[in-house]
Amino acid sequence: MTDILYDTVIIGAGAAGLTAGIYASRANMKSILFEKFAPGGQAALTAFVENYPGFPDGVSGFDLMEKMRSQAVKYGLEIKTAEVTSLTQDTHDFSLETTAGEIRTKTIIICTGVRPRHLGIPGEKELFGKGISTCATCDGAFYRNLEVAVIGGGDSALDEGIYLTRFASKVHIIHRRDTFRAIGPLVVKAEHDPKIQFHLDTIVTAVNGENSVESVTLKNVRTGEESVLPVSGVFLYVGLLPNSEMFREFIKLNDQGFIKADEILATSVPGVFAAGDVRETPLRQIITAASDGALAAHSAGKYVETI
Ligand code: NAP
Repeated sequence: MTDILYDTVIIGAGAAGLTAGIYASRANMKSILFEKFAPGGQAALTAFVENYPGFPDGVSGFDLMEKMRSQAVKYGLEIKTAEVTSLTQDTHDFSLETTAGEIRTKTIIICTGVRPRHLGIPGEKELFGKGISTCATCDGAFYRNLEVAVIGGGDSALDEGIYLTRFASKVHIIHRRDTFRAIGPLVVKAEHDPKIQFHLDTIVTAVNGENSVESVTLKNVRTGEESVLPVSGVFLYVGLLPNSEMFREFIKLNDQGFIKADEILATSVPGVFAAGDVRETPLRQIITAASDGALAAHSAGKYVETI
């Protein structure tokens, strides 16, 4: 165990965590960020970001997050690749168990983000990584001149479906309703793409194949009609689950498991703040996560002054 008492420990290195790190470090707070995989979060897996201010021609999600990481490090943020496994509250501070040892801090900023939801249909578990993916940026290039299915009707499904047209000969977007959750401009862009075919009011009931994906079984939810669509790849974009399990007994979550935080991003436990996709929020974007990170670091700094 280290004797250092940190002003803040940031958990998670997505847009929220890295921005919190930039603000905390620049405010001279003794801060450290824990990330269990690589920095960047979900945003680093986004092929192309068109709506982050300052990049009129768009920017790759990976490049944007790498810039945030290097900016945080430049201002002195310590980034450690380790998992936080538990936390306990002492009288005036917190102790965190991590895979790199125990650490003490006056405040915590939770920026653990979200992970892709899975469907739980036959074939999904068996063929995950063998043709089923949740990351078009990582796996899209494997499907050059092949047909793929994208499941979902939100921003991710349409964004990544459009991206996949760079490689695939055809992208089938399969959505369970006849209207999209995705923003209008994305829907219009996809509608005008000759490589994209929509299958609306349609669910996927199974992914089929021996050692790789060969087809999906579709069911029209209005007519009940079933069909088999031959595809070589399946990309799941059916929503996001919060990475908040570790905090369930500790702070207030909403029914879906997102962390409840007030207007200064304070959670139900004084000294613990939440930022980015893991918190209950009406909008999950890179810009809102970054904004949250700035505010959470500011709030944590103010809190440190009071104890
Ligand atoms: P999402 O907005 O929650 O959309 C999930 C989609 O999956 C919905 O269309 C939903 O259908 C469908 N779905 C959920 N469960 C399903 C099931 N069991 N079977 C079939 N379909 C199912 O998730 P997302 O698209 O990943 O976006 C998450 C957040 O990130 C959003 O806030 C989004 O705006 C943001 N995002 C932003 C950008 C950007 O700004 N460039 C890019 C990507 C994501 P229903 O519509 O019927 O519920």
